[in-house]
Amino acid sequence: MINSERLKREMQTISTFGALPQGGMSRLAFSQEEAQARAYIKTLMQALGMNIREDAIGNIFGRIEGELPLPAIAIGSHLDSVPLGGFYDGTLGVMCGLEAIRTIKENGISHKRPLELIIFSCEESSRFNMATVGSKVMAGKLSKEALENLKDKEGVSLYEAAKAFGCAVETIESAKLAPDTFYAYLELHIEQGPVLENKGIPVGIVTGIAAPIRYELTLQGRADHSGATPMNMRSDALACAAEIILHVEKIAKEEAGETTVATVGFANATPGVLNVIPGSVRMGIDIRDIDQENLEKAALLIEKKH
Ligand SMILES: [Zn+2]
Repeated sequence: MINSERLKREMQTISTFGALPQGGMSRLAFSQEEAQARAYIKTLMQALGMNIREDAIGNIFGRIEGELPLPAIAIGSHLDSVPLGGFYDGTLGVMCGLEAIRTIKENGISHKRPLELIIFSCEESSRFNMATVGSKVMAGKLSKEALENLKDKEGVSLYEAAKAFGCAVETIESAKLAPDTFYAYLELHIEQGPVLENKGIPVGIVTGIAAPIRYELTLQGRADHSGATPMNMRSDALACAAEIILHVEKIAKEEAGETTVATVGFANATPGVLNVIPGSVRMGIDIRDIDQENLEKAALLIEKKH
């Protein structure tokens, strides 16, 4: 059995890094707050006698050898958060992974394979508009150039931020792992939707991940005076966007598969003032489904209608 009191206590401690006075927390990737949380977890990993290494993008690996030199079983999650995030997203997976490995070690339970705790770097897309950066780098899917091109709101590139954080990003290729490095990977994660909670089910096992198809659209209309332009002589980009939004909703609800969801997450009108007909709109559509066929069907239906 795990030591749940200890787990609770450590969850409380790590939750102080980035905690906000109004509740919740902000622990953006490569921030001071994330650095504090990482330093804390590393002290716990050290106390357990883990062999700790960090790769070029800041992924942390804590390893305990098994009886045989086989590919390891990994368990973990991430410590960065979205702005105004919750305490459990990511952090719970890291802390429970640590507690699970610690329990195995403390009780002298024999295990053939090595066990590794992984803390993925920059999992959330909030800062650089790209999610799962750490695992993408591990898979060899992000180049140095790609990291230089991803910028946050202040114009700081992911490359610069990681470097300032102490990562050896200039050797980014070295972080790519061989496909057989791990035998299996486990992650405990809070439910990000309301389904289990509503049904009173304490835990669920993930059978599929709702992969997205995303579109970014720019609608080009014509900006005109809102008082002087008759209705039949307008080209209102925002009114057009509104029609698209309702179509997207209808397709996901009624025409695509049962598990299809679709969202227009933003629609920014220009010039965006009360007395000017919107001349253009930039908008984003996010379609998701655990079933690839349904996903493609929904995307096709959305494309066709417009
Ligand atoms: Zn998460």
